[in-house]
Amino acid sequence: MTVETKQENLNPFAIAQHYFQQAADRLKLDDGMRAILSTPKRCLTVSIPVRMDNGTYRVFIGHRVAHNMARGPAKGGIRFHPDVNLDEVKALASWMTWKCACLDLPFGGGKGGVQVDPHKLSKAELERLTRRYTSEILPMIGPDKDIPAPDVYTDAQVMAWIMDTYSMTHGATTLGVVTGKPLALGGSKGRDRATARGVQFTLRQACAALKTGIRGSTVAIQGYGNAGSHMARLLHDEGALIVAVSDSKGGVHDPKGLDPDALAAHKKTGASLHTFKSGRPVTNEQLLELPVEILVPAALENQITAANAERIQARIVAEAANGPTTPLADDILFSRGITVVPDILANAGGVTVSYFEWVQDFNTFFWDDDEVDRRLEVYMKRAFDSVADMAAKHLCSLRGGAYVLAVQRVLEATLVRGIFP
Ligand code: NAD
Repeated sequence: MTVETKQENLNPFAIAQHYFQQAADRLKLDDGMRAILSTPKRCLTVSIPVRMDNGTYRVFIGHRVAHNMARGPAKGGIRFHPDVNLDEVKALASWMTWKCACLDLPFGGGKGGVQVDPHKLSKAELERLTRRYTSEILPMIGPDKDIPAPDVYTDAQVMAWIMDTYSMTHGATTLGVVTGKPLALGGSKGRDRATARGVQFTLRQACAALKTGIRGSTVAIQGYGNAGSHMARLLHDEGALIVAVSDSKGGVHDPKGLDPDALAAHKKTGASLHTFKSGRPVTNEQLLELPVEILVPAALENQITAANAERIQARIVAEAANGPTTPLADDILFSRGITVVPDILANAGGVTVSYFEWVQDFNTFFWDDDEVDRRLEVYMKRAFDSVADMAAKHLCSLRGGAYVLAVQRVLEATLVRGIFP
């Protein structure tokens, strides 16, 4: 059977498990250890009643999953999106386990989400939703238990409400309960662009391995939020030509290059990128298949699948998003010689600076931009090199190498701790 004729399973948790099992095969793990490492430790589903501005009530469904805590407290973002479901949150939580281990951070993996379109709520409704969700997941979160952060459609303001709700409930200001906070509230310098900065550091390494560079490369970026917009700015400043960007409604393509300042100004008006004044509109599907050197998926899961992987023209795919490439597509890209810098390595700059924020919060002593940047570069480069070594050792892709490295580290922690009781 060819890959094209196989039915793809797009369930994110099944996909996460597939990548884990590949690493478990390479590490020759027995069934018991596979079950221990792959099964989420805690899953909580909550209902969130919210009084709307017009006096009516609505109930939203939210989740928080702590996938693994062998190496430290669970760590992972909170997503507010209409498609959130428990399997997606379980997948994202497990990717956080492997990501934190890949970067050698003292964290396990967690994730949370609420099934809601936050763009349809007023600010007051969003605050009530956030605070009630926080109070419902209070048994799970804490600075030494499980530490949320921003993800799709959540931001520093949402983190501030979470921090305040937790602190009010515990009767003490607790900065370290959440990261990605505003600078006025124990946030870290550089956290807003950290995910993109981390992708940039790994891209430099990937380019060097291919004897090319970011400078002069053409780039297409899918998704123009925290990850994607900072990516456009950073790569543009490094001399790349940003030829296409998109948001949920579509994007714009201009082979002559797009100006990040003009794009940001356009987005600020509330308009979608497909209405940008220069270039021509593209769909999100078309953007992925453009003839560029570097493709950065920075939106949602399952964007590069068996249906389009043969048509990807980029030499390097840098996964700023979590789970943008399905296993069948990953095999196709690998067989076509396309370098994929996998999510659990590429976008780990976000959680790495979240780790720095957590450390700064405990010390109540804050670093300057250069310090954050310098330390982040050390972590990203070291992780990239370890992943590349592991991939060479197992004759596999960088994703394969990243998973072996990560699973091995979590395995080691699990074995030295022992299984309680
Ligand atoms: P965000 O909410 O800031 O932005 C999301 C962007 O994606 C928006 O521009 C939105 O318009 C766009 N989008 C939504 N649906 C889309 C679709 N179907 N097609 C194309 N674009 C679409 O979110 P973010 O924090 O930038 O997260 C983006 C990705 O990066 C997610 O996969 C997230 O898990 C991952 N990530 C984020 C962080 C972080 O620190 N924020 C860290 C690691 C990974």
